[in-house]
Amino acid sequence: MSHDFHPDEAFARNLDQADELAGFREQFHFPVDPDTGKPQLYFCGHSLGLQPKAARQAVLEELDRWAALGVAGHFTPPRPWADYEADLRPLVAELVGAQPDEVAIANGLTVNLHLLLASFYRPTRERFKILMEARPFSSDRYAAASQAAFHGFDPREAVVEMRPRPGEDLLRAEDMLEQLEREGDATALALLGAVNYATGQLFDLAPLVELARAKGCVVCIDAAHAIGNAPLALHDWNADCAVWCHYKYVNAGPGAVGGFFVHARHAQRFDLPRFAGWWGHRADTRFRMPDDCELAPGAAGWHLSNLPILPMAALRASLALFHQAGMARLRAKSIRLTSYLLSLLGDDGPRLISPRDPAGRGGQLSWRVAAPRQLAAHLQARGVIVDAREPDILRLAVAPLYNGFHDLWQLAAAWRALTSPNGAC
Ligand SMILES: *Cc1c(COP(=O)(O)O)cnc(C)c1O
Repeated sequence: MSHDFHPDEAFARNLDQADELAGFREQFHFPVDPDTGKPQLYFCGHSLGLQPKAARQAVLEELDRWAALGVAGHFTPPRPWADYEADLRPLVAELVGAQPDEVAIANGLTVNLHLLLASFYRPTRERFKILMEARPFSSDRYAAASQAAFHGFDPREAVVEMRPRPGEDLLRAEDMLEQLEREGDATALALLGAVNYATGQLFDLAPLVELARAKGCVVCIDAAHAIGNAPLALHDWNADCAVWCHYKYVNAGPGAVGGFFVHARHAQRFDLPRFAGWWGHRADTRFRMPDDCELAPGAAGWHLSNLPILPMAALRASLALFHQAGMARLRAKSIRLTSYLLSLLGDDGPRLISPRDPAGRGGQLSWRVAAPRQLAAHLQARGVIVDAREPDILRLAVAPLYNGFHDLWQLAAAWRALTSPNGAC
């Protein structure tokens, strides 16, 4: 992969010139370095994506409609608030590989996880475990442990992590399948991350979901680090349900409204236990406020509250960019970007823990470093924003909508100066 890359700066600029997605960069605000006044080189899209310039206008439009219309905004076209999800669902569905009726936009990720587990984690004495990837994002682990405890099980027994081999950072596909085979009969729920937040490992989910279901497990996918980063096929993989957030690679803003997926085969499963609210009621009769809740079919039947229009407006602006660029082109550029950066950095610096095979990673690269905060601070002093995870991981992400090859060339120059034998770190 790296042999067609050259290390000189002119080559980086040529790559940007030849990049058909390069123009999207202009559509984003870059934070400004307080010392130099120059835009920062931003590689933290795995934590908080940059602001699309169109987000402000989209939010202002809804503020103006609120000012002008008051309560009538709920039903006044265009984009009546009561139906604000209608335009967004197909765009989100595109990103997660789902049918529009399989997705809903609501709440935060961890909230959605709990709401879906109320329906989909139904432990019994024989089958009560929750099987997860190694070192999941903390919130998912807390959610899983508290769900097990809520049902009266000991989380230390109920929550099982699939472990990499001793001395290895990444999970091997065959080991995951083997652990699933072994634990499957006692597992109520396989809670699988699509991309691990620490290593950036992108899991091959199709065979895992297939085996988990063959073993009688329910499958929930956490796509927080995958949506907008790598293509997903939640419907075809046959996952039961999934959750994600929109503030990482989807650039919808801090604390953005989240999303979830319920497979079409559960669309009419009104018998599934769930917590109900008026927004999960069939839309056509919702405002008659009947005593009994008649659930909407599909993912919409898991809605509780009416929609947060202002954050959804920001999401709408961002989704339009993804739709224009297309996930296939974004993924192809993302692979080029990470491969190019690895070719520039060579093998003699810190140890990469992300997969070297581009098919096994998203747009994130992680290294083991002795003092990640220090290295991140030194890079920040050079106008480069990356992420440090204590005790020993440095992470960065490329976002093909707003990162280019020359960004990476500059990052590599700063990085090598710091991590070389005479460098600061
Ligand atoms: C980012 C992330 C979260 C964050 O949860 P919120 O409820 O959105 O605060 C949870 N789980 C995973 C896997 C994540 O990547």
